[in-house]
Amino acid sequence: MITPLMPTYARLPIAFERAEGMYMYDTNGKKYMDFYSGIGVMALGHCHPHVVDALCDQAKKLWHTANTYQIPLGEKLASRIIDKCNADTVFFTNSGAEAIECAIKMVRKYHHDKGNPGKYRIVTMATAFHGRTLAGIAAAGQEKMITGFEPVPKGFDLVPFNDMEALRSAITEETGAIMVEPVQGEGGIKPIPLETLQEMRKICDEKGILLVFDEIQCGMGRTGKLFAYQWADIDADIIASAKGIGGGFPLGACFATEDAASGMIVGTHGSTYGGNPLAMAVGNAVMDILLEDGFLEHVQKMGDMLGGRLAGLQQRFPEIITEVRGKGLMRGLRMPDIPTKAATVDLINRGLITAVAGDMVVRMLPPLIVNEDDIEYAIGKWEEALTDWSENGAPV
Ligand SMILES: *Cc1c(COP(=O)(O)O)cnc(C)c1O
Repeated sequence: MITPLMPTYARLPIAFERAEGMYMYDTNGKKYMDFYSGIGVMALGHCHPHVVDALCDQAKKLWHTANTYQIPLGEKLASRIIDKCNADTVFFTNSGAEAIECAIKMVRKYHHDKGNPGKYRIVTMATAFHGRTLAGIAAAGQEKMITGFEPVPKGFDLVPFNDMEALRSAITEETGAIMVEPVQGEGGIKPIPLETLQEMRKICDEKGILLVFDEIQCGMGRTGKLFAYQWADIDADIIASAKGIGGGFPLGACFATEDAASGMIVGTHGSTYGGNPLAMAVGNAVMDILLEDGFLEHVQKMGDMLGGRLAGLQQRFPEIITEVRGKGLMRGLRMPDIPTKAATVDLINRGLITAVAGDMVVRMLPPLIVNEDDIEYAIGKWEEALTDWSENGAPV
């Protein structure tokens, strides 16, 4: 008999009851350190008092209005983020997939309105993840997500990861954009080299096409800058955001330059919930903290520390860990001889929450409020597990 919750997830037999800061507590009272932030969502940790206050205060005032009215909290949130990147405008959504959908529609509309409706194709990179809508799975082009769901929208051309020659030759008269995650998340915590991102910017300028960054996982401070593409010192045309931007509240956003968004006029796109006052109040509260003086420096510092400590683990257990990947507080350990799913379950039983990613990687996306002691605690759990695995064999 089918379960009441549609069985699309493999669920562990753990139910969490409450959480605070870096820690989660299950229904048996067992405590876990959350080194995965839900799924990269709880940027400020669990139940951050400032965010809880903003949510509760707004819940007593006004939850929702149609987007046919002014939403001052939305204008405020938009301005605050636009101020910190090269975008000029934003469309708020409820999820990452919708932000990507908006980005794809915007690319098509842009070229359509410039008199080039044939420039609808988007070049994407293998092992990417762009959400679960039909367009999102078509963009990522991974067979395991597409099989059984065809036909998917056409117009996506996949090139191998970081293969600039393939990318150049994939661009034709019909290409309207390049869309990549500056640091691939699901694919295995794979940063695209900064020179490659810069090269992409040049190509897009040369060809008059748009550069779209999927910053849903790597953005909102995760790598130590507001957006990961900013490390390359280049401009984006369109930026999809979600996950950390809502600090746990369903919120996404599609940022764009004035030019890239020039086709998005009244009636061209919409969302019932997107950018409603409740979501905007929470988004602003998250931004209050994220934009505090020194906050992103804290992320960089903690990211460096975590990267260094993980490199230390690799030195001690080279037969298990072949690579430390990532940037800032987005990190992965590649462990080709260990079943990564079993490794994460073993770590959870020891009280540390991590997650699998592609390419035999265990990934960590701790809340951005993580401190030195938290990192030492997590590394301690890793040491315990790695010692056990190297002495007694891999977890199964
Ligand atoms: C999570 C994620 C998405 C999809 O976001 P949803 O909120 O699950 O729709 C898209 N792209 C990237 C890079 C992601 O990490």
